[in-house]
Amino acid sequence: MRTFQCERCGQTVFFENTRCEACGAHLGFDPIGLTMRAYEVDDAGAWTHLGSPAEKWRPCHNYITHQACNWMVAETDEEPMCVSCRHTDVIPDLTRLDSLMLWARMEAAKRRLFYTLLALKLPIPSRAEAPENGLVFHFKEQLSPEEPVMTGHASGLITVNLAEADDVIREATRRDMGEPYRTLLGHFRHEIGHFYWDQLVAGTAWEARVTAAFGDAQQDYAEALKRHYEQGPPADWAARFISSYAASHPWEDWAETWAHYLHISDALDTAAHWHVGFLAPKGEHSPAPEVLPGQEPTHSFRRRLAVEWLPLARFLNSMGRSLGQGDLYPFTMPDPVLDKLCLVHEIVTQRASDDAPPAA
Ligand SMILES: [Zn+2]
Ligand SMILES: [Zn+2]
Ligand SMILES: [Zn+2]
Repeated sequence: MRTFQCERCGQTVFFENTRCEACGAHLGFDPIGLTMRAYEVDDAGAWTHLGSPAEKWRPCHNYITHQACNWMVAETDEEPMCVSCRHTDVIPDLTRLDSLMLWARMEAAKRRLFYTLLALKLPIPSRAEAPENGLVFHFKEQLSPEEPVMTGHASGLITVNLAEADDVIREATRRDMGEPYRTLLGHFRHEIGHFYWDQLVAGTAWEARVTAAFGDAQQDYAEALKRHYEQGPPADWAARFISSYAASHPWEDWAETWAHYLHISDALDTAAHWHVGFLAPKGEHSPAPEVLPGQEPTHSFRRRLAVEWLPLARFLNSMGRSLGQGDLYPFTMPDPVLDKLCLVHEIVTQRASDDAPPAA
């Protein structure tokens, strides 16, 4: 994720900001230009774009009513909500204690997800466009143990238990599940991976290569998860998978790998924007890049992982420990995981270039 400049005064502003700290301008994110825009808001509540050229935008309905969004809607767009919020169909009862705060955290993490999906030019069909399997989100509060709210994906519907936005509950769940990492953004990036399996892999010419890399997804899913929770992962899972959960079934391996592909895409974007590249600890030589970032063809994504991402991840972990936070990226990436990430990259970039998938 990049930083942005206030269009009025040039101050650096961040993706989550709603006001410029320096000049007080109202800020709103433009999901078409993928940039932050500055506005003046008059007493009647009309938003006037301060940048040039002056473009007509209005704030997302959730921005005005709940301060639960900071994205804008083009004047020509008939939807009251921005391209992220309009995909949410179920929100919690906002009269209940803390539910507005928890829902706003959900939407904030979801906007970060959407930014990367838009930047990667991935399709984001709505239910109106694709009634059977368009993308829709339900953020649900579990009101009784008899009616558990399970976080998961089914035919484009992503359900997230509202409690995942509660830091105390999520951390307790992480500990109970023995996971090294559990975040809202991680949930979104995992579940959207299941969605893109349906969109980009199932029934396409990619299936054969995906099956060769991830395994046969036709094996019984319920049975595989039951086995995973009863017996745990295979002893050698770390040599082949990004997480122990990824070892449960090829669909989960795909979703976990996909999530890490989005983590890495965002993190490399951030690093490049901050002029951080090709890190190496003292005593090790920084590998010289053969191709500059942003210009490389698909086949060099593997090299980019090796020379940019893995050293950066080591640096982030060292820095996290320096600040008492522990490892920021508690994962290792053996060769089979790198291979799978490269396949995801190939599928994503192929889709972005709008070419037909290769013959099987
Ligand atoms: Zn400003
Ligand atoms: Zn919105
Ligand atoms: Zn999953």
